[in-house]
Amino acid sequence: GRKFVVGGNWKMNGNKSQICDIVSFLKTGPLNPETEVIVGVPAIFLDYVRVNLPENIAIAAQNCYKVAKGAFTGEISPDMIKDVGVNWVILGHSERRQIFGETDELIAEKIAHALESGLKVIACIGETLQEREAGKTEEVVFRQTQAIACKIKDWTNVVVAYEPVWAIGTGKTASPQQAQEVHRALRQWFCDHVNASVGESIRIQYGGSVTAANCKELAAQPDIDGFLVGGASLKPEFVNIINAKQ
Ligand code: 13P
Repeated sequence: GRKFVVGGNWKMNGNKSQICDIVSFLKTGPLNPETEVIVGVPAIFLDYVRVNLPENIAIAAQNCYKVAKGAFTGEISPDMIKDVGVNWVILGHSERRQIFGETDELIAEKIAHALESGLKVIACIGETLQEREAGKTEEVVFRQTQAIACKIKDWTNVVVAYEPVWAIGTGKTASPQQAQEVHRALRQWFCDHVNASVGESIRIQYGGSVTAANCKELAAQPDIDGFLVGGASLKPEFVNIINAKQ
């Protein structure tokens, strides 16, 4: 079976004092040991959080560049992330795509380099409201996934996060049926375009206004293998979301 995996994406939030509060509620838990937990931390706090958070909780950077080192002012590399004891990176988040203009191709290159460097990757995809209303949801998420598939062969260390842009930070969660429909289509896409074993084993998270109130019904869907949580991951209710899978 696919191990349930819940990520908290702090985005550009938090300071050392707030991090102490988050570490404290995560330590108190209790957290279902059957669920893998990852917190996505601003780069400047990666080292601090790794030192303060118990080892049973993994940490992700929220971005990295596509090469190991060099003259790329302001960027960080997978090697640097690994050097502070962090094993994951979130790539392709819709905020990176939309606000910072990252293309499908750049994201795929970043994912390939991160995997080659030994990081695990949460690869984010998802359609905008306009794309959904135009009936293009599958076309868009398949295109975003295909771009990655062109650059990587081994999906073992990849978790896909399906995050409909219209559901991010809006309080408008996809219904369990809407999410399940896209997750199932994506799994079928992997069966058809990569292979059946990747289709069966790849974990697909849902992200977009996940809360303690809606997580259980989403977690009960057969093709939803976890969550990528924004706002609610900063609050104690994140513990309930981690424990959503019955
Ligand atoms: P919210 O949970 O705040 O909607 O954010 C979702 C998200 O973008 C996680 O990466």
